[in-house]
Amino acid sequence: MSRKGPRAEVCADCSAPDPGWASISRGVLVCDECCSVHRSLGRHISIVKHLRHSAWPPTLLQMVHTLASNGANSIWEHSLLDPAQVQSGRRKANPQDKVHPIKSEFIRAKYQMLAFVHKLPCRDDDGVTAKDLSKVRGAPQWMDRPFLFFPDP
Ligand SMILES: [Zn+2]
Repeated sequence: MSRKGPRAEVCADCSAPDPGWASISRGVLVCDECCSVHRSLGRHISIVKHLRHSAWPPTLLQMVHTLASNGANSIWEHSLLDPAQVQSGRRKANPQDKVHPIKSEFIRAKYQMLAFVHKLPCRDDDGVTAKDLSKVRGAPQWMDRPFLFFPDP
């Protein structure tokens, strides 16, 4: 079974090449070091499986690859894609960063605190309610994608 998608795969958290693990609940691929942090956070935060050594239902493996290659990670790092945030000094981890504290703090902020997830602006003036959010103009595309499968963090 080929692990290679159309693009070269890298760790969703630190960009290390050829990640060996997948987080089923987050739709991302991660390296050995970042996986160890995911495990330490607990299964309510991230459920990880090894891409080669774990038993996978084929459809689940396909789903994880599809999510990963379609940018699921940009949900968890939404605000990091904003140049203004980059200037503020917030950045993701690098492969060379120490697992503790650099990678672990980044991963905790990313998946446990949801520090970089897009927050819809509060707009009391036009009466938008939670039920209407999917109709808000400019709502991110991923709202149309099947993330309802994911357990709440
Ligand atoms: Zn990593």
